[in-house]
Amino acid sequence: MRKPLMAGNWKMNKTVSEAVSVVKALKGAVTGVLDVEILVCPAFTALYEVNNEIKGSNINLGAQNLFWEAKGAFTGEISTAMIRDAGCSYVIVGHSERRQYFGETDETVNKKTKAALAADITPIVCVGETLKEREDNATFSVIEKQVRNGLADITLQQASLTVIAYEPVWAIGTGKTATPDQAQEVHSFIRKIYAQMYKESAEKVRILYGGSVNPGNVSDLMKKSDIDGGLVGGASLEAESFTKLVKYSK
Ligand code: PEP
Repeated sequence: MRKPLMAGNWKMNKTVSEAVSVVKALKGAVTGVLDVEILVCPAFTALYEVNNEIKGSNINLGAQNLFWEAKGAFTGEISTAMIRDAGCSYVIVGHSERRQYFGETDETVNKKTKAALAADITPIVCVGETLKEREDNATFSVIEKQVRNGLADITLQQASLTVIAYEPVWAIGTGKTATPDQAQEVHSFIRKIYAQMYKESAEKVRILYGGSVNPGNVSDLMKKSDIDGGLVGGASLEAESFTKLVKYSK
């Protein structure tokens, strides 16, 4: 049985005090929720203080990126040890905004995924097709390549612990959500590819859907058998709407 994971990606939003204030309100609102794992991924600058605020609660902390080298002359980068030190147990890897604006490739995604796993940090590896790729009927070939290359060469145990997020690029921040059937079709395809790569780990790996998830569409998405949670941008920025996502009706 896979425990649902509701993850908030705050992207480049919120100062330290704003982040702490949202997480404080969220903490109060989700007290006692045990059937859904809750995760917030603030900007690097807010990680430490947000971690102080959520200590002992049911909210987990994640970073939005990492670099695979342990230390050294890599100006502007941040290591697994640094995000662990700030309290992170998760990290988002290969978000489409990083692929689009910061040159991330399946190869860098793979290096980051392996670095995270080696440091006992759970990577949330993002995959997804652009609108053009969907219109060109290339969705499945794009996803297969991203999954095979981004998640290559990890152990079976690491494969079970990894989280994958299917985020169609055309649905991120656009208000256009994939229909539950469209999302399920790709999620089950990802699980099939994963089974070829990592056998029984495919039944354990959690596959999140991301792309304009909101309190109005979350329940129908979560009813699908291969959708194990959400990676949520806009609707995770305020405690009230994120709480509704965490407490979606089952
Ligand atoms: C995201 O940040 O990964 C995302 C899916 O954003 P939004 O929910 O705003 O579409």
